[in-house]
Amino acid sequence: MGTETRMATHVLIVGGGYVGMYTALRLHKKMRRELKSGELQITVVDPQSYMTYQPFLPEAAAGNIEARHVVVPLRRVLPRATILNGRVTKIEHAKRQAWVQVVGSTSAEGDGSEQVAETRMLSYDLLVFCPGSISRTLPIPGLAQCGIGFKTVGEAIYLRNQVLAQLDIAASTELEEVRRRALTFVFVGGGYAGVEALAELEDMARDACAYYPNVDASDMKWVLVEAGDRILPEVGPDMGRWTIEALRRRGIAIKLQTLLKSAEGHHVVLSDGEEFDAGTLVWTAGVKPNPVVRRTDLPIDDKGRLKATAELTVEGVEGAFTAGDVAAVPDLTKPGNLTAPNAQHAVRQAKVLGDNVLAALRGKALKPYKHAYAGSVASLGLHKGVAQIYGVKLRGLLAWWLHRTYHLSRVPTVNRKARVTADWTLAFFFKREVVSLGSITRPREEFELAAKD
Ligand SMILES: Cc1cc2nc3c(=O)[nH]c(=O)nc-3n(C[C@H](O)[C@H](O)[C@H](O)COP(=O)(O)OP(=O)(O)OC[C@H]3O[C@@H](n4cnc5c(N)ncnc54)[C@H](O)[C@@H]3O)c2cc1C
Repeated sequence: MGTETRMATHVLIVGGGYVGMYTALRLHKKMRRELKSGELQITVVDPQSYMTYQPFLPEAAAGNIEARHVVVPLRRVLPRATILNGRVTKIEHAKRQAWVQVVGSTSAEGDGSEQVAETRMLSYDLLVFCPGSISRTLPIPGLAQCGIGFKTVGEAIYLRNQVLAQLDIAASTELEEVRRRALTFVFVGGGYAGVEALAELEDMARDACAYYPNVDASDMKWVLVEAGDRILPEVGPDMGRWTIEALRRRGIAIKLQTLLKSAEGHHVVLSDGEEFDAGTLVWTAGVKPNPVVRRTDLPIDDKGRLKATAELTVEGVEGAFTAGDVAAVPDLTKPGNLTAPNAQHAVRQAKVLGDNVLAALRGKALKPYKHAYAGSVASLGLHKGVAQIYGVKLRGLLAWWLHRTYHLSRVPTVNRKARVTADWTLAFFFKREVVSLGSITRPREEFELAAKD
């Protein structure tokens, strides 16, 4: 690492998410001897010290799963890899060099925000580039100030606290407009992240209303705004339509072919002419490839994705591999198409990628990635779900059960499986916790007030 002379082959993995962590796990499993003898060195760079199992974020936001149980600590599962907590800012692959801004976990303000400590240069032999995607936002007035995404465990924890805190406000205020604003929740984007997050949080808030004598579930206004004419394309048109009806039966407003025009000062204006104040605005209108790809000398396509071959190498480049949300991987099951950015592909691509890195190191032939999309499962709150798997359409309790079974089988490590099962089992016997710990985002507030007196 660095500029010193090395004997070992150094594999640099950029991003410790689905693709990065599973690739490193595969290499750990298959190359134990080389890792032990020091012939192979793996470095994983990620600003976070954990991999996030994103499909469980909606359940974490709803309090069905403890937030810490939806993340997998990289240092624990990859004991022989070097984990660097930092952000890759630039790659010169021609020189086999990457620059990393190392992040400190606390800032001088003590609010947990990142603080850049130093920039390091890493030399490597083989690159695995998988920094995923980021929220695709638009320059809508007020969105950056009032909105929040739904991609990280921090956002899931924040939203749980936020929704419950809004109920606290509504129950305590005497001002009708403050109450109305607190009880209005808007989600923009009807893919699985938006629909699951909205449905799970609405379900939690509905349960929580039982503890607020002056807030009835019907007082809340939950709105899903979607630019297209359908939601949940992942489960097919029929199940998408069924989901719209099921959510409308719960009193949720689904606005199709509608755009968010502005959200200044939490005043939401929609393209259908409706406008109202909303205390909570969640932006889940899709993702785009991580823009760090533009700060490399690797080839990208017109949508900003890294050009990949079916073997998961970077097109026309030696010694570089890629997969997941950042990569334009040809879909061999649908010639002319690319694999969609989802966990189903990411996890399977990581397996092939790991094997191909190993093959490259041993001078063997690389294998192509081929997987036909099997469909999707989505949870819509406790005991509610929708699914389409291998053409089989399911809804309600059965789909919800399938969602849980499928994701439990997929969440990495036995440790996490056991903890998630324990969370679900406890939730079966006890009511869920409906307390807002919003103060964790402002931990120094109380102390500062004390210091002023
Ligand atoms: C709420 C939600 C629910 C979802 N549910 C489903 C589902 O039910 N089914 C499904 O198939 N898919 C689902 N997905 C999509 C799925 O999670 C993604 O497709 C998958 O995570 C992509 O894997 P990846 O490795 O490409 O990216 P990620 O898993 O996002 O990993 C990227 C990693 O790179 C790191 N990183 C970012 N920038 C840098 C940098 N500059 N330097 C170093 N590291 C960096 C990030 O911190 C992250 O750890 C969901 C996504 C969300 C947000």
